[in-house]
Order: sequence, then structure tokens, then C-alpha cells
Amino acid sequence: LKVRAALLREMGLPAPYAESRPLTIAELSLDPPGPEELLVRVRAAGLCHSDLSVIDGSRPRVMPMALGHEAAGEVVELGPGTGGFAVGDHVVLVFVPSCGTCAFCMSGRPALCEPAAAANAAGTLLGGDRRWAGATGEAIHHHLGVSAFADHVVVSTRSAVRIDPDVPFEIAALFGCAVLTGTGAVLNSARVSPGQSVAIFGLGGVGLSALLGALLAGAERVVVADVVAEKLALARELGATHAVMAGPSAVEEIRQATDGGADCAIETVGSEQVLAAAYAATRRGGTTVSVGLPHPERMLQIPVVSLVGEERTLRGSYLGSCVPKRDLPRLLALYQRGRLPVERILSGLLSLEELNEGFDRLASGHAMRQVVML
Ligand SMILES: [Zn+2]
Ligand SMILES: [Zn+2]
Repeated sequence: LKVRAALLREMGLPAPYAESRPLTIAELSLDPPGPEELLVRVRAAGLCHSDLSVIDGSRPRVMPMALGHEAAGEVVELGPGTGGFAVGDHVVLVFVPSCGTCAFCMSGRPALCEPAAAANAAGTLLGGDRRWAGATGEAIHHHLGVSAFADHVVVSTRSAVRIDPDVPFEIAALFGCAVLTGTGAVLNSARVSPGQSVAIFGLGGVGLSALLGALLAGAERVVVADVVAEKLALARELGATHAVMAGPSAVEEIRQATDGGADCAIETVGSEQVLAAAYAATRRGGTTVSVGLPHPERMLQIPVVSLVGEERTLRGSYLGSCVPKRDLPRLLALYQRGRLPVERILSGLLSLEELNEGFDRLASGHAMRQVVML
């Protein structure tokens, strides 16, 4: 099958990407689905900060790669042994497949699936194969088992979750990364309970999803911090009780707004300074959840004694500590009942050709979630 896909050949090209054009729209050949694999007609794919981190080289991946990892589409062909899926199924793709049998999957933590981590690092599907090839037959890598920015993709059945076909594709796509990651950080990783206070650092797709998750959990005070005034205004409209301009006085303002510190702080920026600020914004006994992905060389400085003396918790959250097959249907049902207004974080629809410009907007901090329609 011939497929149009956004191909990244080289990391670290200079911004603006509208000029350096790191993503090129290429015609690739796609092999048919192998055992336990699906051919999916992608209909919508979100632009995520993790894609940007591959483009700018702060999250290095094997090149060349068909980029993108947040998508929804329709199953059009089944490989052998794909019981449970049928042609015509609508699916959300998940950027960490779960093998179902490793120690982490067995303990209910599929975000840590070991074969998935190995396959994602190697740029293959979970089964170990690549289904892409370039015009001259060169190997092209899969991005996190998804490669969302393409009109068709082959994925492992372990990367796909069937969904209610009534959910629009551009909404469903956001659940694959932003919504799972953001709401999961609050509901699964921090286990926020009714009446607690939550501080959220960074209001991209993940941070705004964390806000929606905190409201869903019944948080009494939700304080948001960002550098973009329009995003703070949107967060207030969505239900944040306090909005704080990020800067030197932000921690103090958050501590005041929460009567001495938040029960829980969620860091979505991927910066060690912001993570240290999030930690400082929590109260005694508080929990800080790190969701952003800083460059691997970054180190964190915090007063270590506070972990013991004040019983603080610092934890990481990948894929929102979700079990996608359990959590995606639940979250989508909440969206359908109007309790998770994910449509509010959708800030633009693009074509495949407009991706480089879209990533410029994301890098500027002014976009929330943009979606490519395919
Ligand atoms: Zn993402
Ligand atoms: Zn596993």
C-alpha cells in the first residue's frame, strides 16, 4: 500500500520549522498487517509536545521516522490472529502497547511494559517488525508503535483500543495521549480525592486535561500556572479556581491560594526548574507528580529532608499510569456525558502539509491541542 506520511529524517533542525521544514510529506510503502496487527485508516492525529521533543532532538529517536503518536481511526484490514477486532471498528491508538504477559503488565502497570519499551526504543511494532519502507526501500521507523501522521498505519492490536463510533475522530484522538496522560496523572498517579487542592503547572493539552481530571475528582481548589494569559483565561472558564502567571512569585501565590500549599502538584512542562517549583508549591504530606519529559541530562534539586520530615511524595507518571483498555472507555463515556469537555482543548484543525507550521505554534506556547485531519 502507498501511504502519505510525515517523515522526520533529521533531528535538531533550527526553528522556525516553517522554514527549516523538518517534516516532509513522503509517499511510503506500507506492508500488510502481520500476526496480531491491524491496518488502520487514520482519520485524526494530534500534535503533542513529545513529537516536538523528537523534532528538536531533546528526546532522541532512531531516524528516519514516520512521526506522530496520538491518533484515532478505523480498522480496514486484519492480520492473522486479531480476534476481538473487526473491519470497521473505530479505534484510539495508544503510544505504549501492552504485551499483557510481562511482569509490569501482569501487575496492572502496562505503561511500564518491557517489550513495549524495547520496541518503542527500536522504532518497531511490538512484534519487532517494521512495516514502512521509503521510496528506495530504506527502512523507516515507527514512532511509539503508532506513527500517527499518515493516512494509513499498521499497528499491533496491543496498541489499539476499540471505541464507541459515535465519538468524533478529532476528539477521540486526543484521548490517546493528552487525555490519558493528564487525567491519569490526577486520577491514577496522584489519586486526588474530593475536597483536595491541586496545582497544575503548564496548560498544554496534558495540563488542561489534568485540570479536567482534577475537576472530575472533586478537587475543591484547582490552581493553574502558565506563561500565556489566554490559556489562564481558558482554564478559569473551565473551572480552575485560581490562575497564576508563571514566574518568580508563582510558588508563593499558589501557596497562598491553597492555604499553605497544594495537596497535589502536577508538572507538565518537562523542566526541572518547574518541577522544583511544583514540589515547593505542595504542603506537608503533599504529592508532586512529574508528567513532562525533560532532556535526559537534566537533574533535579530539592530539599531532600522534606521527603522524610514532611512525608512528601515525588512520583513520575507515564501514560497517566493508565490501563488503556480499562480507562479509555471510561473516560470517553464521561466525555459523552459532558463531564469531560475535551472539545474545549482542541485549538485547531490542520492538514498534513501544515504540520511544520503547527509545530511552530506549539513551540511558541500559544497552541493547546491541534489536530491533523486525514
Ligand atoms: Zn503525546
Ligand atoms: Zn508487557
